[in-house]
Amino acid sequence: MKRRLWVIPALLCVLCMTACSAAGTASGVENGHDGRDSSSAGNAEEGVQDPAETDFFAMDTYMTFTAYGDRAREALTLAEEEIRRLESEWSVTDEDGEIWKINHSGGQPVTLSDETAQIVRFALDMAEETDGALEPTIYPVLTAWGFTTDENRIPGGEELRSLLENVGYEKVELNGNQITLPAGMELDLGAVGKGYAGDLTAELLEEKGITSALLDIGGNVQAVGSRPDGTDWRLGLRNPYGEGSIGVLSVSDCAVVTSGDYERYFIGEDGKEYGHIIDPETGYPVDNGLASVTIITEEGKKGDALSTSMFVKGLEQAQEYWRTHPDFDMILITEDGQIYLTEGVQDRFELSGSFGNMEVHVITAD
Ligand code: ADP
Ligand code: MG
Repeated sequence: MKRRLWVIPALLCVLCMTACSAAGTASGVENGHDGRDSSSAGNAEEGVQDPAETDFFAMDTYMTFTAYGDRAREALTLAEEEIRRLESEWSVTDEDGEIWKINHSGGQPVTLSDETAQIVRFALDMAEETDGALEPTIYPVLTAWGFTTDENRIPGGEELRSLLENVGYEKVELNGNQITLPAGMELDLGAVGKGYAGDLTAELLEEKGITSALLDIGGNVQAVGSRPDGTDWRLGLRNPYGEGSIGVLSVSDCAVVTSGDYERYFIGEDGKEYGHIIDPETGYPVDNGLASVTIITEEGKKGDALSTSMFVKGLEQAQEYWRTHPDFDMILITEDGQIYLTEGVQDRFELSGSFGNMEVHVITAD
């Protein structure tokens, strides 16, 4: 299991301009534990039932699921079971899971379930598409930094160089459901698994007839439908500099996924902060001036893959990537207090009071 230095339950988000967009602009400040604004909490709105809610710890993070409707309670029970099943399948440490089997295959082929083959395929494809900024085989490097145990340390340059020889998504062979991972390498779905789990859980709720639910999967928010009264969910975008939210976004039917170094980091003996997202080119934690990246997309797995990889790419390269792949929206927050957001979300995001004078830049297609 990865180390959790501190956990932020309930947080974030934004919205998207493709299939997950909806009318209306964000206003006011969210203040609900799950990011709902106060007017939607409880049964303040006449005719709206109290939601069913469940929170639990899984996939090394806190999850809070909220759903409306007559069958909400039953659906949330199934949703939690689904998460636990996926957690076991995709955990690096669960000996009964498929990822564990791949990582202990000693270079021999392993046959995967359709579901696991699909997410591994997705992770490898996104690794290629992001030129290796997403690197699903970075695990041995994370371990060297102590992010997978409780013993954080700063590895030496030589050690990192030698570990990086066993890193590289292009060395993984996946043909249909059969995977071959060279001995010495390790696969880890940490950067995409929660997003995919969110997609599968949202689908499950929809199959059960739920049209209004919010799934907060430790930094990933999956909005199923809209609020019960048909208006957008209003979600607080996590303040990367401290507590609370930095602004509010309106979203319906989409995934909002944030990556940032405030989530997991340690302070080295040299007094520097080292975060849990690694630049696969150097083996060092990313330190490029970005404080957080939020992605708004139709699919949670894509949001998850992109939030991690755009964080690795940094301010300039993330914008370049978006210009050639403009099928998502993003909000980049820099360590020096600036916000860059893609044009599709500019009218949907409103800064919270004390952040009102942050500099906001709109990223346009040309
Ligand atoms: P979180 O899981 O905390 O929400 P992310 O989705 O950004 O955050 O994923 C970060 C996790 O992904 C790390 O904790 C680690 O397990 C793994 N990771 C770190 N760097 C990379 C990378 N460059 N590519 C893929 N996975 C990474
Ligand atoms: Mg991610």
